[in-house]
Amino acid sequence: IYGGERRNSRGYDLSAPETVEPLLHRIDKAMAGGGWTAAPIVGGRQLSGQGRPVSSPVDRSRTVGTLVEATAAQVEEAVGLAAAAQPGWDRLGGKRRADILNRMADALEADDAPLLGLLVHEAGKILPDATSELREAVDFCRYYAARAREQFGTPLRLPGPTGESNDLYLAGRGVFACISPWNFPLAIFVGQMAAALAAGNSVVAKPAEQTPLIAAEVVRRFHRAGVPGAVLHLLPGTGETVGARLVADPRVAGVAFTGSTETARAINRTLADRDGPIVPLIAETGGQNAMIVDSTALLEQVVDDCIQSAFLSAGQRCSALRVLYAQEEIADRLAAMLSGAMDMLTLGDPRHLATDVGPIIDDPARQVLEEHVRRMDREARLIKAVPVPESLSAGTFFGPRFYEIDGIARLPREVFGPVLHMIRFRSGEIDGVVRGLQSTGYGLTFGIHSRLETRAFELFRTMGVGNTYINRNMVGAVVGVQPFGGQGLSGTGPKAGGPHYLLRFATEKTLTVNT
Ligand code: GLU
Repeated sequence: IYGGERRNSRGYDLSAPETVEPLLHRIDKAMAGGGWTAAPIVGGRQLSGQGRPVSSPVDRSRTVGTLVEATAAQVEEAVGLAAAAQPGWDRLGGKRRADILNRMADALEADDAPLLGLLVHEAGKILPDATSELREAVDFCRYYAARAREQFGTPLRLPGPTGESNDLYLAGRGVFACISPWNFPLAIFVGQMAAALAAGNSVVAKPAEQTPLIAAEVVRRFHRAGVPGAVLHLLPGTGETVGARLVADPRVAGVAFTGSTETARAINRTLADRDGPIVPLIAETGGQNAMIVDSTALLEQVVDDCIQSAFLSAGQRCSALRVLYAQEEIADRLAAMLSGAMDMLTLGDPRHLATDVGPIIDDPARQVLEEHVRRMDREARLIKAVPVPESLSAGTFFGPRFYEIDGIARLPREVFGPVLHMIRFRSGEIDGVVRGLQSTGYGLTFGIHSRLETRAFELFRTMGVGNTYINRNMVGAVVGVQPFGGQGLSGTGPKAGGPHYLLRFATEKTLTVNT
């Protein structure tokens, strides 16, 4: 039942020059033509309109393509077509929908270069992040295809009295709005849509305004793989206009959203106040993710795991480590080792394999980080700041920073980027550390580095967080292996890439027949 028949995608071996050279060549070739366009795709047709340039975070003067925002009339039309087409898509059944999703997975793998190129150029992802993101998108398609086959393929026969049959059916809810973020513009975008489609819903997708080009490429591929044009529509644009209109439409029967806690609240308010069905919100939002390191931990490994969790992907993962609690006895050594390791981070152009940390998505995001570190510079002790080389001034780069804050309960504000905060604690203060963390209300990821197994397990039991990692890094959840998603201010669950995800996109119907 948990996906034994399915394998995750193999991914890429980026340590082998014979893989990397041709891959880079193919990516350059795919990107050479330029001219990418993200325009509304409604009823399978790409619509025209006034466009604006989409620039690259690697170099703001470089245009990657053109964005045409959806209009109010196009939102209206897309939802209408999706509502009319949904019953037919639902009736197609879980097995046929699974075949289409498997075809989509194959298509993502077969023609990978444009997707990888857009991840690098439009989203500023370094190549290892781009390849693992593509892999995750493929895995979502195959994983949800397998779940669709199993959970939506045949009804569940239930026990009942003689002379009566009882079956439990799963069906789609109707039109799903899928609203996705820029930090995983391929994996999360594909994952939301694949899940909604697998469960028998039609979809109107609103990708992040920073990354619409890759979204359009994905929607075109879903159509080519066999999802009818009337079943899947793309509405690029801003949250304030397109997103807000979409969730306010009473024909929308479900919303899958990944983004800020604040926007999730706004969506919830809109859903509560509008007409139409009572709609479940599936939200995956931010985190104030912490790692507790006690004095039994293996510090060399802690350093590696902190670098990966806090600074790689430029800290732009919901799962990223923000607050490092270090036991007093090892705090100085850990800080010195981590600071030394930060000296070895290469900030640079994501197209170069030597780069560890690429750009921040855009200028407003960088400004929030700059404001945060100005405050930290006043209120905390700066341990290390990695400088941004002059040669990167055309892009939105931001150097990783490492601070120490005094006082176990003085947690910093949640920010999205490569800033790590260390707080030291004494062995008797662990309960206070837990209370401090719980008081944030977030519950996404949590790390523990300790050889005291019972204590580590107890912390896992106590903390209300979605994904706990012991003695390893705390990012890069794998589909079907670490189903991903949080609690409290971090989201409503369910867990993406987990066995119960599709159920939240579905309604349950029982059928009782007197035989
Ligand atoms: N699933 C990703 C991870 O485990 C994070 C997803 C996100 O940032 O929204 O790192």
